[in-house]
Amino acid sequence: TLQIDNVSKRYGDATVLEPLSWSAEKGEILAVVGPSGSGKSTLLHLINLSTRPSTGAIYLDGEDLTALGRRQLRDARRKIGTAFQSAALFQRRTVNANVSLPLDYLGVEKNEARAQTARLVERVGLADRADFYPGQLSGGQKQRVGIARALALNPHVLLADEITSGLDPVTTASILDLIKALRDELQLTVVLVTHEMDVVRAVADKVLYLENGKVVEYDTAAALLRDPASHVGSQLLNWGQ
Ligand code: ATP
Ligand code: MG
Repeated sequence: TLQIDNVSKRYGDATVLEPLSWSAEKGEILAVVGPSGSGKSTLLHLINLSTRPSTGAIYLDGEDLTALGRRQLRDARRKIGTAFQSAALFQRRTVNANVSLPLDYLGVEKNEARAQTARLVERVGLADRADFYPGQLSGGQKQRVGIARALALNPHVLLADEITSGLDPVTTASILDLIKALRDELQLTVVLVTHEMDVVRAVADKVLYLENGKVVEYDTAAALLRDPASHVGSQLLNWGQ
C-alpha cells in the first residue's frame, strides 16, 4: 500500500501542493488528473523521492519513506519505478542498454542484468527491436522501452507521467492494456498522471482530481461516475458523445 499522509510542497513562497492525503492499494491504478500546473508531476516527484515534501509523510507498505537515511533511501527508491512523458530515453543507447541502465547503475551482476533486461524487453513486446536505437522506434515502442526500464528493479510502485500523450488512440489503448496486464502480473500499485479522460476511463480504479495544488475530487472511478455533481464523473460520461 502506498499512503500519502498530509503531504504538501512549497517552492519558496509558492505552494504547489496543499496538504493532501490518499492511498492506493497493491494492484490498484490511481489516475491523477487536473489542469496544467495543478501539481500532478510534482506529486510524482515526491513519491519517487526525487524531491522532499514540505510537510507530511509517504508510506510504502508501512515504511515511512520520508524519514529514511541515505542508504535506506537508495533501497527505497528501487521500489518505485517511473515512466516519463515521451519516454525520456537515451538516444545513443539501444533498447537493451536503455532498459538495463538502472541495473548497470546499481552494479547488478552482468549476466543477471542481461537476463532481466531480455525478460523485460520480451515482456513489453520488443524482443525483435532489442538492438534498435530510440530514433528507430515508433512513439508507442519508445513508451514500451520506458515502461520496461521503469520495471528493471522489480518495483512495487509504477509511476507514469503522461505516457500516452501524443499517441494515437490505438497505440494508447495498447500501452494501457500493457499497464493493466503488468499491474495484474506484478501486483503493482500504479499512479498514472494524464490529462486525457479516455485514459482515465480505460484504466483508473480511483481518480484524484487536482486544481491549483488542491484535491477537488478523490474517489473510485465508479463512484465518481455515479455522482451527478462530480466534475470528473461528468467528463467521463461526456467523453466520446
Ligand atoms: P502539466 O500538466 O503542465 O505537466 P503539472 O500538473 O504536472 O502540469 P507541475 O509540473 O507539478 O504541474 O507544476 C505545478 C506548479 O509547480 C507549477 O506552477 C510549477 O511552476 C511549479 N513548480 C514545479 N517545479 C518547481 C520548482 N522546482 N521550483 C519552483 N516551482 C516549481
Ligand atoms: Mg506535469
